[in-house]
Amino acid sequence: MARYIGPVCKQCRRENMKLFLKGERCYTDKCSFDRRPYPPGVHGQRRSKFTEYGVRLREKQKVRRMYGVLEKQFRRYFAMADRQRGVTGENLLNLLERRLDSAVFRLGLGSTRTEARQLVRHKHVKVNGRTVNIPSFLLRPGDTITVREKSKNLARIQGALEVAARREQPEWLEFNRDALEATVKAMPSREAITLPIEEQMIVEFYSR
Ligand code: SF4
Repeated sequence: MARYIGPVCKQCRRENMKLFLKGERCYTDKCSFDRRPYPPGVHGQRRSKFTEYGVRLREKQKVRRMYGVLEKQFRRYFAMADRQRGVTGENLLNLLERRLDSAVFRLGLGSTRTEARQLVRHKHVKVNGRTVNIPSFLLRPGDTITVREKSKNLARIQGALEVAARREQPEWLEFNRDALEATVKAMPSREAITLPIEEQMIVEFYSR
């Protein structure tokens, strides 16, 4: 599946918030959003007022960018969430959170979702003992995530684990840091997703 390969920090500036897409750099004074906290482009510093549609569009774009998913796939997730029982917005977040690259990032094996995605693509990660190189692979309760034996000492994984110590460990994943093994304990609950997201806006965006 395709991925976004354009400028990363512009996405934070467009969404008017730090999306923490660059790992360690996001915590330093090199952060572009801290330096230029206004939208990119020649008219970026103009005062702009969003329409109701614009507010919902921005919320959808923000979540899409947080999880590194392109529009076509995001729309597909929304259709899946809409077909499931329960609250559509929560189902959507649940699907995004259960992606393998997202879980690898949440465990701290990658310092960003992009890095976690690359770890998966480069076959460093196994699910239930089998190599899975599909970042959008959906995890289910009971699944185990392990790092390939010869990848365990990779400097980038060890470095990412250090950075991840600043982040909260999700309650739906049980992680053995020494063995680099995790188990999916349950489906991620809405409360476990602490990102500043108003999922109802996304539902309204696609239901208009
Ligand atoms: Fe966003 Fe991180 Fe870039 Fe700052 S450094 S603008 S938080 S991606």
